[in-house]
Amino acid sequence: MKAVAVFPKSREVRVIDVPEPRLRAPTGVRVRTLEVGVCGTDQEIAEFRHGAPPEGEDFLIVGHEALGEVVEVGAQVKGLKPGDLVVPRVRRPCPHEACPACRSGNPDFCVTGDYLERGIQKAHGFCVEFFVEEEASLHPVPSSLRGVAVLTEPLTIAEKALRELDTLKRRLPWKGKPGQAVVLGAGPVGLLGAMAFLRAGHATTVYSRSPKPNPKAAVAEAVGAPYLSSKEVPAEALARRLGAVDVVYEASGAAKAGFEVLKVLGPNGVFIFTGVPGRKEPLELEGAALLKQLVLKNQLVLGTVNASAGDFQAALEDLGHFQKRWPGQLEALLTERHPPEAFHEVVTGKAGGIKHLIRFA
Ligand SMILES: [Zn+2]
Ligand SMILES: [Zn+2]
Repeated sequence: MKAVAVFPKSREVRVIDVPEPRLRAPTGVRVRTLEVGVCGTDQEIAEFRHGAPPEGEDFLIVGHEALGEVVEVGAQVKGLKPGDLVVPRVRRPCPHEACPACRSGNPDFCVTGDYLERGIQKAHGFCVEFFVEEEASLHPVPSSLRGVAVLTEPLTIAEKALRELDTLKRRLPWKGKPGQAVVLGAGPVGLLGAMAFLRAGHATTVYSRSPKPNPKAAVAEAVGAPYLSSKEVPAEALARRLGAVDVVYEASGAAKAGFEVLKVLGPNGVFIFTGVPGRKEPLELEGAALLKQLVLKNQLVLGTVNASAGDFQAALEDLGHFQKRWPGQLEALLTERHPPEAFHEVVTGKAGGIKHLIRFA
């Protein structure tokens, strides 16, 4: 069967032929891949700047944002049957007894760094015709979400961020209410984040580079998030336009833009970084002014990665909610579909569109 793989040693990215996986454990599930989303992480992997093959192997099968259909289940599988749609989680716990995060079922907070991530870190991914996964790492998908559930994984980033934000708001003696949110970046993670912040009750503005009109701005405004371009509204003007910014959800992966917007975070505000910068040129910061601001305004800066089982569940529920509240807008994110052979070109090219998918079935 076909799989898309990267070979870090020989620096190749290509479609390979691998044997079909078989069920080995009674708790295992065999899944036929329908669609796999590609993102900036895949680009980093395809450019050999991130990720690693499984121990002892020379290639990594990519793909971490998948939607599949169950084709076979082990004898002890209770909640899934052939024909069911599923979305897999990405990260698997590290083996260390002393890791409180992994031992409590929260590998997204792993403290040792020895976790595995399917399609990224030392475990094969889902950009392959069939894969086998434990039932416990799969989430059933209602058939009404068949067309959009491939967006579950990128939405989990916002779900985890909102969960963290909820905890952080409780530090305020009067318990903070949802306020003004700024989503930085209008890629799929940003636009899904905007929908999630709106759903959670925040007034939400999307702030990104390209001026209007453009397809990303159209989605933002269709869901009720005003869109501002950094080419037209400089970061320092944001607070004048929007009032106090309570939370920034950074989804641009651009370090400079992130720190520019951090300067306009309001009192008691929370800045959430989710992007991993691709370009790594040095950046000059006014460190003393920044520290003074953080202290005098009681601000928090938070990084967040990966997501828990609860976040996947929340993302699936929210996709259903978004579909009803903003018909057609999730579909509007899924602009391009490609065969597996196109993976390398898709991730490294400067193709337009919003979300690109590799389609198997
Ligand atoms: Zn991704
Ligand atoms: Zn761990």
